[in-house]
Amino acid sequence: MLRSEAVIDLAAITANVATLKGRTPAELMAVVKADGYGHGLVPSARAALAGGATWLGVAMLDEAVALRRAGVTERVLAWLWTPVETAALRAALASDVDISVSSQQQLDLVVATAAELGRAARVHLKIDTGLARNGVTAQEWPGLVTATAKAAATGVVETTGIWSHFVYADSPGHPTTASQVERFTEAVDVARRLGVVPEVRHLANSAGTVTLPAAHFDLVRPGVAVYGLSPVPSQGDFGLVPAMTLRSTLANVKRVGPDQGVSYGHQYRTAAASTLALVPLGYADGVPRAATNVGPVAINGRRYTVSGRVCMDQFVVDLGDARASEGDTVVLFGPGTGGEPTAQDWADVLDTIHYEIITRIGARVPRTYV
Ligand code: PLP
Repeated sequence: MLRSEAVIDLAAITANVATLKGRTPAELMAVVKADGYGHGLVPSARAALAGGATWLGVAMLDEAVALRRAGVTERVLAWLWTPVETAALRAALASDVDISVSSQQQLDLVVATAAELGRAARVHLKIDTGLARNGVTAQEWPGLVTATAKAAATGVVETTGIWSHFVYADSPGHPTTASQVERFTEAVDVARRLGVVPEVRHLANSAGTVTLPAAHFDLVRPGVAVYGLSPVPSQGDFGLVPAMTLRSTLANVKRVGPDQGVSYGHQYRTAAASTLALVPLGYADGVPRAATNVGPVAINGRRYTVSGRVCMDQFVVDLGDARASEGDTVVLFGPGTGGEPTAQDWADVLDTIHYEIITRIGARVPRTYV
């Protein structure tokens, strides 16, 4: 093994997509933004397609173009872009990427770029049903639909999708979710009355995919569940298998006496004579500095806690009287099946969500695909 690595179980990604696909007759768009939630953009995309995904979703135009450059030919939707990205917009449309439109200004830019390229752009019109991020309001919706239909009549765009995004999908039964489904359905009806019938209507993320069949429409858009993390941890794992294991190798092991201060600021002191193990991963690699004295790890089959400050490149673990050697493996998180901590365990002690734990692992940590 390498000194440190994020081991990615591609078969788990494939199996997770198949598991999700088994819950819905809708098509499945695997969300592979942010470097496949830290698992690698292209390998994750290919593994998801092997599991039955027929679409890929990314935030950025550059991510979509990177998929195309890697030879991915399936449908790709990119949804978060700005007016300054003219070259990226041109590249995305030229390489047959579907594009989200959240305003009249975006529609104008897409129309102008598509006209310049001499090809129709496939657009997914976004309605803001309550999240208040991207998308037009219900008041602006008929105007955007009408303008898109007009552009479509000239052959420069196709209205491929109508879509929105949930606020509270991870809190099953939250009343906002029902009202979003209602607003979304109403927006689709308004579009239909204006003569626009999209190929795909889509609303559900991972949590919506596993808990809300009524919101599946034509396409579901899971992200975190593709990588095996439960979108609703309070309701179990839904048969998903975590795909990432973050591990490293002990760089130094030594005995110290009692009351030895450890790492910058001596935020930890040994209670008795102890073995200290040095792990060569730090906050520059995505191990949060907030894991100081709380982050869980497994070494030689036993659980320990980060001892003292997490530094830029390293942290220390007090092993007490346990034995360990330089070169032994330390697991920060994995599926949990071997007793190691999970990304959810890290999220719990850091008061965050597992999404942040997996996506923050830095570029310095090589990804090893198994
Ligand atoms: N759809 C959109 C628009 C998103 O931004 C995301 C991720 O944040 C997803 C789908 C996937 O969400 P999740 O990872 O919760 O399944």
